[in-house]
Amino acid sequence: MTEHSKKSRIFLSPPHMGGEEIHFVQEAFDSNYIAPLGPQVDAFEKEFSEKTGIPHAVALSSGTAAMHLALRILGVKPGDEVFASTLTFIGSVSPATFLGAKPVFIDADHTSWNMNPDLLAEELDRCKRHGKLPKAVIPTDLYGQCADYDRIMEICTPYDIPVIIDSAEALGAVYKGRSAGLGARAAIFSFNGNKIISTSGGGMLASKDRELIEQARFLSQQARDPASHYEHSQIGYNYRMSNIIAGIGRGQIRVLDERVKAKQRIFEYYKRALDDVPGIEFMPEAPYGRATRWLTVILITPETFGVDRETVRLALEAENIESRPVWKPMHLQPVFQKNYPSRAIQGTVAEDLFNRGLCLPSGSAMTTEDMDRVIEIILKSRTRPK
Ligand SMILES: *Cc1c(COP(=O)(O)O)cnc(C)c1O
Repeated sequence: MTEHSKKSRIFLSPPHMGGEEIHFVQEAFDSNYIAPLGPQVDAFEKEFSEKTGIPHAVALSSGTAAMHLALRILGVKPGDEVFASTLTFIGSVSPATFLGAKPVFIDADHTSWNMNPDLLAEELDRCKRHGKLPKAVIPTDLYGQCADYDRIMEICTPYDIPVIIDSAEALGAVYKGRSAGLGARAAIFSFNGNKIISTSGGGMLASKDRELIEQARFLSQQARDPASHYEHSQIGYNYRMSNIIAGIGRGQIRVLDERVKAKQRIFEYYKRALDDVPGIEFMPEAPYGRATRWLTVILITPETFGVDRETVRLALEAENIESRPVWKPMHLQPVFQKNYPSRAIQGTVAEDLFNRGLCLPSGSAMTTEDMDRVIEIILKSRTRPK
């Protein structure tokens, strides 16, 4: 063991409690509301809506469950197509397959790394001419940066195709002065362990459409019809958030702004140290918004930096520092290549970002010393120029 490898592990984005969470969890215990709904859940939904400005919200067991409900309510059925960002996490698109639909993957652009609106427009035009339009479009807000909502909505509206934003990574981000997820038909959020705020696991479906959220609430509780006995005229799911977990969420939503600021400061620190290094670039911020920098992401060009992304990642790992490649694009995933011969609309930008991209440790509780350790190892991982 080298001296460094004995140092404590630096995680990519560990949970960061604010202190008040335990108080709300205690309230849940005191009231004996140890159930998959309850007053903490109601309060968390209300506080989430106030924070984001999205008027209606239902707290669920995960972000993936939220997407599943959204697609089901929009009537996605076997044989349908659903358009999604190829550069995303699988939880964004697996729900389409739960409903027997087929995802079509749209490439990223260089300005935001999110769904390329021009490719979306071209593909919708082509689909229109072939007489088969997708049932929904799912842009992902990658690594804390919003997709270009206005352009995407402008493109989808004439076809009457609903847009569901996957804001799982972007709670706290801003698009033209409004909250991430606001403005689309619905948006999903995640409170998984590594997200900007965490409830250990959980999700939220939010929308301006009260009816849609009420339907989601109904389906998330086994689709129980109103009756004193158990009466069902539809199949639902057990997707509700527990009252205990919601207590954690209430504490976390109170520190969201602080967490966003901390993530942005971490990004600025890395950027000051590494921006001038040949072969290193940072994920760009699109002009229309303010990214949270949930994760600070760099691109490493081996020809100029000296070594490739994987060499840097392994050098960090050897020093007990967790970093991750950028998401492997969905159109390259074996499951979609084999079982769902799904189309990819280009994909070369996402492939390049995957090949060169590295997510740096970005935990909101990181110290300057932690960041200095990361920076030092990145710089040392280079081969000396000949
Ligand atoms: C985390 C994440 C999800 C899914 O969230 P879970 O709560 O883990 O189900 C979906 N999409 C993206 C882009 C994510 O990063």
